[in-house]
Amino acid sequence: MGGSIIIEAARKGQITPEMEHVAKAEGIDPQKIRRLVASGRVVIPKNASRDTIPTGIGESMSVKVNANVGTSKDFIDIKEELKKALIAVQYGADTIMDLSTGGDLDDIRKIILESIKVPVGSVPIYQAARDSIADMTSDDMFNAVRKHAEDGIDFVTIHAGVTLDALEQLKKSDRILNVVSRGGAFTIAWMIHNERENPFYEEYDYLLEIAHEHGLTISLGDGMRPGCINDASDGPEFMEFMTLGELTREARRKGVQTLVEGPGHVPLEDINLSVRTMKRLTDGAPVYLLGPLVTDIAPGYDHITGAIGGSVAGMHGADFLCMTSPSEHLSLPTVEDVKEGTIVTKIAAHIADLVKIKDRAKKMDDQMAIARKNLDWEKQFELSIDPERARRIKCSRKSKSDACSMCGDLCAIKIIKDALR
Ligand code: SF4
Repeated sequence: MGGSIIIEAARKGQITPEMEHVAKAEGIDPQKIRRLVASGRVVIPKNASRDTIPTGIGESMSVKVNANVGTSKDFIDIKEELKKALIAVQYGADTIMDLSTGGDLDDIRKIILESIKVPVGSVPIYQAARDSIADMTSDDMFNAVRKHAEDGIDFVTIHAGVTLDALEQLKKSDRILNVVSRGGAFTIAWMIHNERENPFYEEYDYLLEIAHEHGLTISLGDGMRPGCINDASDGPEFMEFMTLGELTREARRKGVQTLVEGPGHVPLEDINLSVRTMKRLTDGAPVYLLGPLVTDIAPGYDHITGAIGGSVAGMHGADFLCMTSPSEHLSLPTVEDVKEGTIVTKIAAHIADLVKIKDRAKKMDDQMAIARKNLDWEKQFELSIDPERARRIKCSRKSKSDACSMCGDLCAIKIIKDALR
């Protein structure tokens, strides 16, 4: 059953197999899932024509992680991109986004859709604008969305909140980096060149028709997302949030599931404000964050700055975190970068879950604590987010005792266990 039909079924009081699946995975009553889907506070991205593993994103759900893959015009290696997608799923990515801009985009999308069973997202404007932004027509933009939907894509990022009014705000702002969203930049460049309103905003109803027909979930992109700490929490960003709120409500009225994307680069103290404002203005829509990165000075370590921001954002209600890799701001990620970025973002999501869905998440930490208390190394490896790495480190410097080589016989856990025996 497709995404649009899911929300309509939920409103009619029906519990679909997708809702049952999510209820089981999350350990939540299916009726509660149905109510959350009906209200738009939870989405289950799933194209009507694709056999996607149902994944619940939103209120009361565990925080989900997306991993981006995709070619660039400089590096076109479909096999490598597929490897990235597979390793991301292996390490826990809940969804994959194909952001390819180089090579045969239809072919790459087809291969990823055939090989990956978790929901797959895309940004159709990348395809529409790939030859020339100036020559792109509004038909090209909608046709790209239709093509991706027909191919089976489960969710698409659409920068419908980038309006002429938002552009005026941007011109008046004191931003350093103006616009860093690729889709947002394409849209703005097109609007300036053509002296026209954003077609995705102007003909939003048409976009919703396409989405409804294919069960496509719309991820409302934040084209005005801040690209550095200086630019966070300003007029263009919050003006776009207000537009995204209106667009979210309109999509729900038309039976289209909707996510809302957010920043970007945000100082730690502003994360709460951003997430809560997005939730308030969208009547609780699932919030999908790109990071947020909490400092600008750590290229090479932006998976860590993103994970710090993601943990705090999740604590304040963000539902979906986009993986940041160590190569952020520097290059197209390698397979190893995608693996590391996915693992680090999964850690951030779990840290957030320890607040968001504490009872369910804490069980995992308790199991690890018990395994540590028992000095049960195999169990500790098994419970680790990256068992291979944990085992490699433990085995690289073995202890003569059954503890680890940090303290050996002076292991505090052992000493206290013996003393209390
Ligand atoms: S040896 Fe030290 S570091 Fe290792 S498990 Fe025991 S207390 Fe922990």
